[in-house]
Amino acid sequence: AWQGELKDRRKNGEIYPIWFTITGVIAPDGRTTHFVCTQTDITVRKAAEEEIRNMAYFDALTGLPNRRMMMDRLRQSLASCHCDGHQGALMFIDIDNFKQINDTLGHDQGDALLQQAGLRLQQQALPGSTVARLGGDEFVVLLERLGTEAASAQAQARYVGEKILAALSQPYLLNGCDHQCTASIGMTMFGKRRESISTLLKQADQAMYQVKLNGRNGLHLFQASDDEIPAKTSP
Ligand code: GH3
Ligand code: MG
Repeated sequence: AWQGELKDRRKNGEIYPIWFTITGVIAPDGRTTHFVCTQTDITVRKAAEEEIRNMAYFDALTGLPNRRMMMDRLRQSLASCHCDGHQGALMFIDIDNFKQINDTLGHDQGDALLQQAGLRLQQQALPGSTVARLGGDEFVVLLERLGTEAASAQAQARYVGEKILAALSQPYLLNGCDHQCTASIGMTMFGKRRESISTLLKQADQAMYQVKLNGRNGLHLFQASDDEIPAKTSP
């Protein structure tokens, strides 16, 4: 007997997935006399599986990877950095005064701004980087394989960060009118030391918080000395 997933072709040429089983029919004398095959169209089941996968790994509003996928990518990226010595950068990006957009234009226009911001991030990130939405107005950009030389990796990451800042401060078309908005970016480099994921997330968050403290609309690269800044406290 055998069973497995195969592809079949409909009369109209469309390829579709089937679940295929073959079972041997064995006669009393032990000879296999026939094979019985069944095939089931599993198009609907596959589509449902795909939707569940999307819900688990992608943000419904922007279509970007969500926190879970970002964490997976970061884990993989750290492992590959530790193997080949390449460096990467983790950026936390939070829209400034986003609550005002919600309060003045409504939640749906806030959603529209988040979608436009997500698109701009994708346009500015380097090929192969991960752009994710963590939730609310918080996004993450993960830059990988920036080379083995620290200064050059840092310069590339800063360059991308500055481009993102500029792109996010362009007017957003909401309700037919242009609206101005800015963002704060906290960045940390990884790959040189064996950093843990939680340490990197904390560093990027702390760097972003530093920009908020300094008046927003800026980029801060985490430095070891930042550890002396008091941690963000929840209200
Ligand atoms: P700050 O400059 O300090 O970042 O302040 P902020 O006004 O941007 O507020 P903050 O980043 O602390 O909070 C983000 C707000 O985004 C909180 C919540 O009301 C709103 N929000 C969270 N999720 C969504 C969403 O899916 N859609 C919309 N429209 N708003 C959301
Ligand atoms: Mg915000």
